[in-house]
Amino acid sequence: MRLRNKPWARDFMAEHSDILVAEPEKMNDGWSSLFGNKNPIHIEVGTGMGQFIIGMALANPEVNYIGIEHFDNVIVVALEKAIAANKPKNLKLFRANGADLLNIFQSNEIDRVYLNFSDPWPKTRHEKRRLTHETFLELYESVLRTCGEIHFKTDNRVLFEFSLVSMSQYGMKLGYVSLDLHAENIEDNIMTEYEEKFSLKGQPIFRLEATFKG
Ligand code: SAM
Repeated sequence: MRLRNKPWARDFMAEHSDILVAEPEKMNDGWSSLFGNKNPIHIEVGTGMGQFIIGMALANPEVNYIGIEHFDNVIVVALEKAIAANKPKNLKLFRANGADLLNIFQSNEIDRVYLNFSDPWPKTRHEKRRLTHETFLELYESVLRTCGEIHFKTDNRVLFEFSLVSMSQYGMKLGYVSLDLHAENIEDNIMTEYEEKFSLKGQPIFRLEATFKG
């Protein structure tokens, strides 16, 4: 997702460093100490404009949430939404490439990874950029606690099939799998911006939960 360039974004982000962590790779004391509690930590890689992670933080105050997004121009929109939601205490955001997770989190620090409507990278030569490629699964496994989980939603059937195969071949245990999430009317489903867009067009939403074997 590329949004219009926002020259003011850097200054605005610096003004809200209580929620937008400027240098996530320098969190030497760990993320629990930043949150000030030992609650579970759930991260979303590719958080986009933040609707999901902010909604989750508001709905589940006993869980700490971190939204990670590659681009300043996008994460700043999530920051604006978090400010409008009165900056939930259990929410942090930062700008980073998900490929750098090992520089940012200690091993066993995270309880769950959310991936929502990740970029599909349809060309085979770009397969390694898909956030469910085995190279990313290795990173998630390193930062997740034993038996940590990935929860994944997408409208893209090819990416969903790729992810099912990738996770199965990695040795993950597939739990919940849905080929039409919205037909199931799950009450506590918090929609992302992309999910709203695609479901309004009548496209089915695919969802899975998978666990790393301990
Ligand atoms: N999750 C949001 C949603 O469902 O509305 C946004 C979906 S958008 C298609 C994918 C987002 O993931 C983009 O904002 C993109 O910049 C971000 N992204 C893609 N690859 C990333 C990576 N390696 N690290 C961090 N963010 C990434």
